[in-house]
Amino acid sequence: MGCTPAFLENGLHCHGASFHNGKTVLGHHRFDNVASPYNFGLMIPQVDTERLLIEHLQSFGVTVERQVELTLFGEAPDHVEARLKHADGHEEAVQTSWLIGCDGAHSTLRNGLGFSFEGVTDPSDWLLADIRLEGDHQTPSDQIAAFLHPDGPFALFPMAKGRTRIIAGFSKSSGGKSKPNPTLQDVQDLTDKRVGRGWLVTDPVWLANFYINERKVSEYSKGRIFLAGDAAHIHSPAGGQGMNTGMQDSINLAWKLALVVREEASPRLLDTYTPERSEVGAKVLHNATLMTELGTLKSPIAQATRDAVMRFMFGFHSVQEREATSFTEIELDYSQGLLTVGARAGGRFSPRYYDGPPPGIGNKPRFVLFTSDYEQGAAFASRFPGLLDPTPRISPDRKRLLLVRPDGYVGLSATDNDWAAAEEYLRQLVITG
Ligand SMILES: Cc1cc2nc3c(=O)[nH]c(=O)nc-3n(C[C@H](O)[C@H](O)[C@H](O)COP(=O)(O)OP(=O)(O)OC[C@H]3O[C@@H](n4cnc5c(N)ncnc54)[C@H](O)[C@@H]3O)c2cc1C
Repeated sequence: MGCTPAFLENGLHCHGASFHNGKTVLGHHRFDNVASPYNFGLMIPQVDTERLLIEHLQSFGVTVERQVELTLFGEAPDHVEARLKHADGHEEAVQTSWLIGCDGAHSTLRNGLGFSFEGVTDPSDWLLADIRLEGDHQTPSDQIAAFLHPDGPFALFPMAKGRTRIIAGFSKSSGGKSKPNPTLQDVQDLTDKRVGRGWLVTDPVWLANFYINERKVSEYSKGRIFLAGDAAHIHSPAGGQGMNTGMQDSINLAWKLALVVREEASPRLLDTYTPERSEVGAKVLHNATLMTELGTLKSPIAQATRDAVMRFMFGFHSVQEREATSFTEIELDYSQGLLTVGARAGGRFSPRYYDGPPPGIGNKPRFVLFTSDYEQGAAFASRFPGLLDPTPRISPDRKRLLLVRPDGYVGLSATDNDWAAAEEYLRQLVITG
């Protein structure tokens, strides 16, 4: 979207993660070999993420209005009616073509649609502390360090400007009773207990308890109304994927909606949003739940077995690489999706073959054709001006013809010069009814 440099400037580059039990290192992995120009974790507080995105929106003349609450909505065949309540109490009626509920875990939209938020509330308690960490600690300042303690997991996330985020879980739960927020002394005591002495916790900016829900809707849309982000799925922060997954919901929806609004594609294209994102949401939720369960095992035998298996498995380079890659979500694909045609389609088109963002993204998102025959490709593209970028690219694999989606995933993979397959693929996007 053009805001990457501001994010890179404001975040801290994290190059790996290590797993410990006390002074014993169970394993580690690094992000250096992840197949991405951004082969690191970018540690950036969510408040900065929101500020940078809002500034970027402002550069397009879009203002985010705060203190404005959606209270009611209803769908008509060709639009949605919404009622908004402002901070001074006055109400506003809005008519809009589409409504997207990015209104978080307690989503008014999800509840109003009557969608059930299936799942469970995790029985364990959690703590978050944004602090400064001083003293004689051994973990590198550019890596995440997770300590698996019999009482629960304890993780240190390096942040910019010398700050650290602590997230800790407690196997013993308070049974859902709300607890007062932790004090700095509580965090110091916890650090001494879980990691060992020699660390000084100072300068708190945020100390809080929180609980984890693992829930998801089965439908992400109804008619002209869509859900994205935590309104559709919530889970443990293990793996740090909640916000990233929500952003990818929005990217998936945005290009489809843009093509439909421009009348380049049939509204049926929007029916692919739920199956594609629901499958990804289910996988992310499954992985986050698994990581949380492993971190909060209660039985000493199970804990010892987990630690032994981790030590053994992390001895393999391939396991380290797999772990690093799974954190990044770059392996998620749409191979089973309705928009995926041909063997080897559905996966991310490797960024080795282009610089910067996916080639079809931008103010007017379009598919991009990859072929070995530039001239014929250009003639073909000219027949689908709104759907297909006019400039074909030379296919990295000269034996394949590819149609790469605006979000950078391979939609069609066919034998080179199989123009009939390409035509059929694009025609399906336009056919209504
Ligand atoms: C401790 C912790 C650590 C985390 N760490 C990570 C991490 O490292 N990486 C990661 O990717 N994710 C992380 N997450 C998850 C991430 O914070 C969420 O996934 C993300 O904030 C969801 O964004 P959202 O926009 O969908 O919802 P929210 O951030 O909840 O935003 C919803 C917005 O909608 C507004 N709203 C609600 N109802 C209405 C209404 N009726 N009308 C108008 N506005 C309304 C709210 O005021 C709010 O501004 C973490 C979460 C926790 C709890």
